[in-house]
Amino acid sequence: MNTSLNRPDSVDLLVIGGGVNGVGIARDAVGRGFSVMLVERGDIAEATSSSSSKLIHGGIRYLETYEFRLVREALAEREVMLSIAPHIVWPMRFVLPHRPEMRPRWMIRAGLFLYDHLASRKSLPGSEALDLDRLPQGEPLRQPQFARGFAYSDCWVEDSRLVLLNARDAANRGATILPRTEFLRAERGAEAWTATIRGPDGQERAVRARAIANAAGPWVMGAQNATGTALEGRVRLVRGSHIVVPALYRGDQAYILQNDDRRVVFVIPYEQDYSLIGTTDVPHDPAQGKPHCTPEEAAYLCEAVSRQFRNPVSPSQIAWTYSGVRPLHDDGSDNPSSVTRDYTLAMDTKGAPLLSVLGGKITTYRRLAEDAARQIGRALGRQGTDWTARAVLPGGDFGGMSRAAFTESMASAHPWLERPLLDRLIRTHGSELERVIDGATSIEAMGGDLGGGITARELEWMRAREWVVAPEDVLWRRTKRGLHMSHEAREAFAARFERVAA
Ligand SMILES: Cc1cc2nc3c(=O)[nH]c(=O)nc-3n(C[C@H](O)[C@H](O)[C@H](O)COP(=O)(O)OP(=O)(O)OC[C@H]3O[C@@H](n4cnc5c(N)ncnc54)[C@H](O)[C@@H]3O)c2cc1C
Repeated sequence: MNTSLNRPDSVDLLVIGGGVNGVGIARDAVGRGFSVMLVERGDIAEATSSSSSKLIHGGIRYLETYEFRLVREALAEREVMLSIAPHIVWPMRFVLPHRPEMRPRWMIRAGLFLYDHLASRKSLPGSEALDLDRLPQGEPLRQPQFARGFAYSDCWVEDSRLVLLNARDAANRGATILPRTEFLRAERGAEAWTATIRGPDGQERAVRARAIANAAGPWVMGAQNATGTALEGRVRLVRGSHIVVPALYRGDQAYILQNDDRRVVFVIPYEQDYSLIGTTDVPHDPAQGKPHCTPEEAAYLCEAVSRQFRNPVSPSQIAWTYSGVRPLHDDGSDNPSSVTRDYTLAMDTKGAPLLSVLGGKITTYRRLAEDAARQIGRALGRQGTDWTARAVLPGGDFGGMSRAAFTESMASAHPWLERPLLDRLIRTHGSELERVIDGATSIEAMGGDLGGGITARELEWMRAREWVVAPEDVLWRRTKRGLHMSHEAREAFAARFERVAA
């Protein structure tokens, strides 16, 4: 792994930001043969890219704003992501209870027809109408109000691991990935930028880069200003919050609820024991600091679900909340929910090239990165070929087996791994599971449980390959085990973490 100890002074491309777009660009560019350095001032995926609704989706609601290009591209990406990262991306069925007063039946049917046919589907089943008063999917819903509905397919993604795996793959291919390293400023020359970065030791150093990609997400404008250039176009910061409550129903299906304000709210099975409810769309003032879910947002989400679910949800049930800020490309829309989720790449070649990312979705990060790497390649006189649609991410190679068949083969090879732990390890490490356990035949041989089912050996793996330096990196981003632990258990994990690190 290319770490700060052997970082180069001169690269083709410096990427600012270790969210999904930054790591996607770094991975694509290094695979085209460019030398690449990525700086992230916090942990990998610390900001927006670990705070999403975690859906790889076409975005059925974007059909209402006629964003057909975005929907088509996003729909097609579902199949690509299922094939390159089957351990962290899986199909999910969405139930849409019908509310005739919100959208008529013909309109929903037409939307779902488009959703089924705008892009090719290989593995995902098409949409269907449901008699919710007779089917198990109707059980959590109020009856008889929600007797009819529809179902369609999209996908789930472990968002922070998607970012991490792109960063790992980029590093495996030779990119230098520097978490906890801040981009401070850059001066432009005709041939190259001279950038100043500050590492975790507080030391500043200069890096020469033939091009810069600014993928600083909600901070894209700040990073732009630090290059002494102006960005055409504006970013609209829109906060989205989620709440997590004990599971509201059994079953793998998610619900997409049409709320009274015409927005949609998702209820998604989460981390086995929970339901994830989101999201909100609230203008965000960066002066408020780190985004958090306000009591008003929590109440809004509880009310949205309680109107349609048999058992009401109250804020007292909330186990965890998280919030992120969408860095949306400002299209002048009055309503935060209607601002386009499409992305724009702003390329400035008045001197050494600077490409800035505005907007985007996790779903389309790979296409965005491909587009960005092509443009940077053109500006640097060497374009390279597109390659990421077929290149599996680390842990995603099940040797031609389905996920279920791979899980069964691991269960018979390692009967000492209890099923919930085995499932969690496959969702985390995929086909690298056997490298993580490294011949162990018991939890004790894995160094014992440090808390939340994380063993010393798994922690060592994460430290060596996943840039883990703090307990939160493990509990909330490389895994979500923090959610399953009490405050005391998390404190105990942190103490053991420090001891293992010492
Ligand atoms: C509530 C919510 C729900 C969403 N749900 C979905 C969904 O279900 N599906 C989907 O496809 N998309 C979803 N999105 C959109 C998606 O999450 C974002 O588009 C995407 O994560 C943006 O990634 P990014 O890399 O541009 O930004 P970020 O992930 O924010 O990354 C930018 C990084 O740059 C770093 N940085 C900033 N300044 C500097 C600097 N000076 N030096 C070094 N590093 C710096 C930051 O620390 C940050 O980590 C959702 C977004 C939100 C907020």
